[in-house]
Amino acid sequence: MGYGAGRAVRGQGARRGGAGAAGGDADRRRGVAAGVTPGATDGAAKGGDTQRALRRRNLSRVLREVAAAGTVSRAGVAARIGLTRAGVAPLVEELLRAGLLVETGRAAGGGRGRPGSGLTVSDRGPAGLGAEIDVGHLAVCAVDLRGRVRARTAVAAANRHSAPAPVLRRLSALLAEVTSRMAAEGLRPAGLTVAVPGLVARGSTTVVHAPNLGWRQSDLASGLAGIPVPLTVDNEAHLGALAELRLGGGPDGPAPSADFVHVSAATGIGAAVVVDGQLLRGARGFAGELGHVPVYPDGRPCGCGGRGCLEQYAGERAVLRAGGIAPDAAAHAGPGARIALLARRAADGDAAATGALHEAGTALGIALAGAVNLLDPRAVVLGGALAELAPWILPSLERELAVRTAVAPAGERPGGCVVTVSRLGAEGPLLGAAHSALATVFDDPIGRGAPAHSPQS
Ligand SMILES: [Zn+2]
Repeated sequence: MGYGAGRAVRGQGARRGGAGAAGGDADRRRGVAAGVTPGATDGAAKGGDTQRALRRRNLSRVLREVAAAGTVSRAGVAARIGLTRAGVAPLVEELLRAGLLVETGRAAGGGRGRPGSGLTVSDRGPAGLGAEIDVGHLAVCAVDLRGRVRARTAVAAANRHSAPAPVLRRLSALLAEVTSRMAAEGLRPAGLTVAVPGLVARGSTTVVHAPNLGWRQSDLASGLAGIPVPLTVDNEAHLGALAELRLGGGPDGPAPSADFVHVSAATGIGAAVVVDGQLLRGARGFAGELGHVPVYPDGRPCGCGGRGCLEQYAGERAVLRAGGIAPDAAAHAGPGARIALLARRAADGDAAATGALHEAGTALGIALAGAVNLLDPRAVVLGGALAELAPWILPSLERELAVRTAVAPAGERPGGCVVTVSRLGAEGPLLGAAHSALATVFDDPIGRGAPAHSPQS
């Protein structure tokens, strides 16, 4: 059950909440505190459900605003969401009782009226649990209501063509390790989102096809049955884009855009399209398979049955092979070690390494030209392993884009599409997974965020 990743970007309110959960700074930069219609109700809610839906929505708004503000008074919350102080007070009390908010005891400015006691989201209580299954590693992390990573673990794993059961057993052990560390800090998982390198049927926990794992129609729910929280399974590229939407940008880069194409390379190449702050999932949930867009129609055969797919030129395996990195190189050094080795060689001017990355950039530029012409995004964001390799990929990529798109890339025309590099790098899918699980608490604070019994602060 649960489909946190989808909910987190479906609609303006949900997107704001996701950002509030994860990156109050980003929220403030975008100035998204305004624009909420007081008393608005969910269209689907009817009759007696309307009151409950309205209350849930208002609790959600209060929690999000406090998360985005950092510390804020009751009057400040009321001003930010456009309710009266009397209207906000019982909502705040309920969130305090549930342990989702705490009083700081300090005065906090808050618009009109006298400053009141400061409110902030708790650093205990519910947390989002994210997990990543990749061909070469497994990882788990927990993110608290303030958006901070509180526990993280990762191990190298030879998952290529492994059956799901042993992989999920190992992942369950990592999840148990992380939840035990969470418990020691007063945190409890509110939901689990698992990132997988494959196609996931929309609204299900079933991996329809993960070619590099060798999984087909694998339902992960039974293998993770020991984790007593709602489970969501999603494509790693989708989750990487959601992380970019919530946490992206940075001190040196532009603020996160609401319209971008996020491209990441792990074992394959995944992309995700975000339009107006919403992830484009496609009819079946399979949108974004940029890795199988043909760039050379008569080129190398691909495992998908096509020829000349982007993945055959810019996928991690293809690039490492072309760069002269042996399949077993740096195998002991953990996830990402071979990419780091390739980056070091490129930095040293190694011709095979720079040539491989030049070729990858060219292929990416050709494939992305199609996407840019079709979608007119504000930005193309390179994430995953591509972020680390960007210095050697970008020149040929940007040249191809400039030649092939009517919308000029970086700097050539104000308002045109720019190519940026994600500062989240290879952490994107894992962070996106944890924040997606956390977003369910912001969507329904009492239903998903409150403890089963004995509320406390
Ligand atoms: Zn293909």
